[in-house]
Amino acid sequence: MIPFLDLKAQYGAIGTELKSAVVDVLESGQYVLGEKVEAFEAAFAIYCGTDYAVAVNTGTSALHLALIAAGVGPGDEVVTVPMTFVATAAAIHCAGATPVFVDIDPETWTLDPVALEGAITQRTKAVIPVHLHGRVADMDPILVIARRHNLIVIEDAAQAHGAEYRGRRAGALADIGCFSFYPGKNLGACGEGGAIVTGRADFAERVRMLRDWGQAGRYYHIERGFNYRMDAIQGAILDVKLKHLKAWTEARQRIAALYDAALAGSGIPTPAPGGLGHVYHVYAVRVPARDRVREELGNAGIATGMHYPIPVHLQPAYATSGQGTGSFPVSERLAQETLSLPIFPEMTRSQVERASGTLIEICAKHGGFHAAAE
Ligand SMILES: *Cc1c(COP(=O)(O)O)cnc(C)c1O
Repeated sequence: MIPFLDLKAQYGAIGTELKSAVVDVLESGQYVLGEKVEAFEAAFAIYCGTDYAVAVNTGTSALHLALIAAGVGPGDEVVTVPMTFVATAAAIHCAGATPVFVDIDPETWTLDPVALEGAITQRTKAVIPVHLHGRVADMDPILVIARRHNLIVIEDAAQAHGAEYRGRRAGALADIGCFSFYPGKNLGACGEGGAIVTGRADFAERVRMLRDWGQAGRYYHIERGFNYRMDAIQGAILDVKLKHLKAWTEARQRIAALYDAALAGSGIPTPAPGGLGHVYHVYAVRVPARDRVREELGNAGIATGMHYPIPVHLQPAYATSGQGTGSFPVSERLAQETLSLPIFPEMTRSQVERASGTLIEICAKHGGFHAAAE
């Protein structure tokens, strides 16, 4: 069996370090925020190349507080993509605002800057490009348009720890960057976690206050906040894991290159080349008869995923725009065609070869990709 990801393999490699970090916290008596979380925040800010990092309890909370810090509230619109995890849109609702969707670019599967311009209204306050699968969205044109309209740009970098764009890292490319440390993310806690990174002291200060009940001093609340604090154990674990992230990212990029080579000439469309700009949180291909192919791969012992099978504008709980099927054709087509192959840093060359070989055989049986696409 080839798993989709293998967190036990990662624990096997660094378990000793993690145990000692956790024991330190247990013995310290300091279980929420505190030194361990501060140490991680400092290291993560340096890693991202930003001045500030503020740790919170989830990636969703990071997005929520980033939006509030950006001044987004009821009556405002925030532009984002429907091809994302539902949390991107959910956070916009949490802030009291309305998500306005624009389609993705068919090459990069990230926010289409041309579509962005057309979606901006008097009520638009911010835009959230999503670095889907670990590839950084095309930030330069997005920033040009956003600056022209006075919009705050919040990166949803929940899948893109360490991904680069023109020599700078995801999260450091706009006004605020939001990360998730859900266990399966490229940098994952042993539980929930998230962070915002920013170059703006005012945003960092506001998020720091909002995550801890809007307190300016002990039991002195100057704003209505939340309990979005990070646990010390997660901070300590993330601080240990961050030291391994470079090697893990390089391993993911090597595995992606192996897949690229193995699938070249098969007719199966692979992700557009990404270089350092893609950290392959997900390695997704497009296949014919996706659900059948997925089932047959499963029967052959190869676990796969779908990211994502239903775009957010078609999700019953988030279909608030009234835009139904046909509104965002690129997102909708990819939702039906994409298949995420196993990828994790400890994956072996022979596992990649078996996964890609089996995929090619099964796709050929279903008439290859183009038969399905036309
Ligand atoms: C994981 C994820 C989130 C939410 O993060 P949580 O830590 O699960 O709250 C938001 N956006 C994207 C694109 C994600 O992949």
